[in-house]
Amino acid sequence: MHTFKSQFPAPTGATGYDTLIVGAGFAGSVIAERLASQAGQRVLVVDKRPHIGGNAHDRHDDAGLLVHPYGPHIFHTNSAEVFGYLSQFTEWRPYQHRVLASVDGQLLPMPINLDTVNRLYGLSLSSFEMDDFLARVAERVDGVRTSEDVVVSRVGRDLYTKFFRGYTRKQWGLDPSELDASVTARVPTRTSRDDRYFTDTHQAMPLHGYTRMFERMLAHPNIHVMTGTDYRDIVHLLPWKHMVYTGPIDTFFDHHHGQLPYRSLAFEHVTVQPPAGQATVQPVGTVNHPNDHLYTRVTEFKHLTGQRHEATSLVYEYSRSQGDPYYPVPRAENTQLYRRYEADAEALSDVTFVGRLASYKYYNMDQVVAQSLATFKRMVQP
Ligand SMILES: Cc1cc2nc3c(=O)[nH]c(=O)nc-3n(C[C@H](O)[C@H](O)[C@H](O)COP(=O)(O)OP(=O)(O)OC[C@H]3O[C@@H](n4cnc5c(N)ncnc54)[C@H](O)[C@@H]3O)c2cc1C
Repeated sequence: MHTFKSQFPAPTGATGYDTLIVGAGFAGSVIAERLASQAGQRVLVVDKRPHIGGNAHDRHDDAGLLVHPYGPHIFHTNSAEVFGYLSQFTEWRPYQHRVLASVDGQLLPMPINLDTVNRLYGLSLSSFEMDDFLARVAERVDGVRTSEDVVVSRVGRDLYTKFFRGYTRKQWGLDPSELDASVTARVPTRTSRDDRYFTDTHQAMPLHGYTRMFERMLAHPNIHVMTGTDYRDIVHLLPWKHMVYTGPIDTFFDHHHGQLPYRSLAFEHVTVQPPAGQATVQPVGTVNHPNDHLYTRVTEFKHLTGQRHEATSLVYEYSRSQGDPYYPVPRAENTQLYRRYEADAEALSDVTFVGRLASYKYYNMDQVVAQSLATFKRMVQP
């Protein structure tokens, strides 16, 4: 049996908090906002980072350009509920993300579409002809299990090698043949010329940035926010009745079943002056580098934010095995290990686990918002 209560005896008192929320990212902020505004609760949100917003935090850099310190975050969702909910706290700037991959000396649309194939091979196929082309080059795979299986069975070995294999190896430190099918199953192939990275109904960026949106979510007078604070440093000191935990689930349980593997990232932010007459240095928001350079991709923020400025800021992303936990590593044995922590979590009645790291799942922002809204409803059910 877990001894959470005896490890962290939670003093309660008339002036205490109803809920202590660990993490001021999407998961923690949505639940804090709902508990305060809809359930009249007194809520304390703590985050060990010196700011709110979690990985979606943005800020102005020294040059005054709005950047995402933890990598580019592009908002997209098919959920009217999620979009409507967040719209209470921000106006939006319509934005459709586009990605090019640097392959064989060309910048080609990613996900692979009709133009990618035509330009790569010097062809002039129509959409119908591209269907036939893919059917010819696709490899037959009995029982698609790995990421490699997914891609070679869809687009064949050459496109797989040029666009996916190197990128996946860099990103995960593993060959696609060692990764779950789910990793690349999310990337579509199009026989049209549609070069948008996402096709969701709602694609937009918070008009004044994510941090401003989080500030408005957490502005309720019943919400107190403590940044730069690890919850373990205050958990004994402040009175609270229930905890919502949005950090890594294995850390919460002191890794007692072993460490869940996460992939980390190093970000190199640079600000440069575009050539005369140009506002940007890249033709689109993100350029992927599957085969050249040590970094995986480069994102230029002005495309995302629409900011007018004489300079421009970019972020280069390098994958790492050590560092802050960013991506759960999708392998069957990791899911099994997570299930053991999940069982421990379910046995605790005074703690609710929610969010990307607590669920050990690759969730986009909108999925975390949806999960948090659903979790709030369950928490306040009589
Ligand atoms: C490089 C990158 C790019 C991404 N791009 C996109 C994108 O384009 N579109 C999209 O929809 N999604 C994107 N995502 C996913 C998005 O970041 C997540 O869905 C979202 O941020 C998850 O919110 P969360 O609240 O679950 O977790 P987080 O944002 O990670 O928040 C958890 C918080 O808990 C805090 N915490 C942990 N432990 C403690 C502790 N002991 N004490 C106090 N605080 C603690 C952490 O400091 C953190 O701030 C991207 C993710 C990454 C890594």
